[in-house]
Amino acid sequence: MLKGKAALVTGSTSGIGLAIARALAQQGAAVMLHGSRSAAEAEVLRATLARETGATLAYTAADAADPAAVRALVQATEKQLGRLDILVNNAGIQHVDPIDAFPEDAWDALLAINLSAMFHATKAALPGMKARDWGRIVNIASAHGLVASPFKAPYVATKHAMVGFSKAVALEVAETGITVNALCPGYVHTPLVDHQIKDQAKAHHMAEAQVVRDVILAAQPSKRFIGADEIGQFVVFLCSAAAQGITGAALPMDGGWTAR
Ligand code: NAD
Repeated sequence: MLKGKAALVTGSTSGIGLAIARALAQQGAAVMLHGSRSAAEAEVLRATLARETGATLAYTAADAADPAAVRALVQATEKQLGRLDILVNNAGIQHVDPIDAFPEDAWDALLAINLSAMFHATKAALPGMKARDWGRIVNIASAHGLVASPFKAPYVATKHAMVGFSKAVALEVAETGITVNALCPGYVHTPLVDHQIKDQAKAHHMAEAQVVRDVILAAQPSKRFIGADEIGQFVVFLCSAAAQGITGAALPMDGGWTAR
């Protein structure tokens, strides 16, 4: 379905981004992988996905906190894959602390990686999409882009901002073939959530299984993690012709979390 299209998925060496990259490659898209991994590890991942899917895959290292590196990442994608049709802004970090104890450098990093990288990548990718009159920008926000939880104020702020940014850019390009959406997943069992499970277990002297049930999935009525592969398939759908009318939307995939 996506043969001839080229995608950049930021933060695709792990978790949700990796599942999205795999799903797009399975549909025939050429995919630029990106994330913080050693060059050797990234090459193993790239070669494995290429073998698994038969698609063209490349990898570029770039610190998502560095605007110039993010711009260079978009340029590298256009150069190596010939074009950039599908941009998935997914790279993200989390830090959990009460606001009066929140480290200032963690605030700066959350803003730079979760939020500013999306701005720089979108700005750099749009001219090529406009020239071809087709594009898909999918911003991986969170259920925390729609509702809040305590001790995550900076994360929640970046994710709400991602939703607002997606709506505004969608309006700017609404008369073109480009759509812009924010995807709002509930909890997905990735390394990002694994750190939270371990931290909470230590802080509350609880078993990890109890933390999963009583703390992490307390907000998620389905009481199951969302599969990273489910998010990959949803992104594939957003890239289809059937999804041309979906733009400027904040799309929950949260097991009912934000229905409360
Ligand atoms: P993860 O930790 O498994 O993956 C994060 C990816 O971002 C990795 O590839 C990592 O290398 C990359 N990354 C982080 N900082 C970087 C930097 N400075 N430079 C380059 N790459 C960097 O996390 P995940 O759970 O897969 O999260 C992916 C996205 O999904 C994040 O934006 C997160 O906020 C969002 N999200 C996650 C969940 C969840 O429950 N896991 C729920 C909703 C939204």
